[in-house]
Amino acid sequence: MFSVRMHASRGGKHISGAERIIEDNGIQAASQSLIDRALSHEKGRPDFINISVEALEKPIRHITSLPLVLTHVRNAVEGKALARRLLLTLGIPLLCMEKAISLLENGAAGGESMRGAIVMNMRGERLEPDKYRGVRASRMDITEEASMELACAIEREGLSRYFTHISEALVLATKVESVEGTVAELCWSDDPSYTAGYVASKELGYVRIPHLKREGNCNGGRVFFVDGIDLNNYIHEMEKAPILVNKFGGLRK
Ligand code: AMP
Repeated sequence: MFSVRMHASRGGKHISGAERIIEDNGIQAASQSLIDRALSHEKGRPDFINISVEALEKPIRHITSLPLVLTHVRNAVEGKALARRLLLTLGIPLLCMEKAISLLENGAAGGESMRGAIVMNMRGERLEPDKYRGVRASRMDITEEASMELACAIEREGLSRYFTHISEALVLATKVESVEGTVAELCWSDDPSYTAGYVASKELGYVRIPHLKREGNCNGGRVFFVDGIDLNNYIHEMEKAPILVNKFGGLRK
């Protein structure tokens, strides 16, 4: 199996990234569709696109996705209040949670969104070695079968237009929660038109919150809340250990 990854930027600033895990006969099609994505992103046309294709050496872990939990909020104020309640329920200390939210609101990479995630311990300290790049969860994908199960479930809820966003975020959150030491994840997108985000954890699943920012706002990001990790091991697992979601964990409301 091969890992095919795309990263697009303009003037050194991150625009988009995406990746697949596929058999060797799918490399060309996957590369083409990732290039098409890079060229049509709503944040603009890149002046640099990097595609890397690499044989996976480590065994691929097959896992079931976190359950997808749908919530209803009317706006970003209600969405943030819900995210705060969930994070507190999961044992994230108040100060740590407020610092994380404020970093995502204001652009954690010196006013801009990071390319990867903040790694934050229970004292609210940022552990990621590079505060602009952050730590990227990588080498992950979903099988055709699991993808179909997810597509059917969200179609029944009228959410099919968000399929790509939901699928990629669910796979990413599933990988993040599978790495030992992750307590929870908070995310909202930096795509200006996509206001949704989530709080994810092993206990509660991937809790999708439809509004965590106002439409048009370009600031977003991810925070991996961790406890008791060896940072090097944690980053290595997050970036290098391949996982394939081979079953959808179900939908709850
Ligand atoms: P997106 O969900 O693609 O809109 O990404 C929102 C934010 O999450 C980005 O601005 C990055 O800070 C972060 N991010 C995106 N992809 C990853 C990844 N693979 N691993 C860690 N963080 C990511």
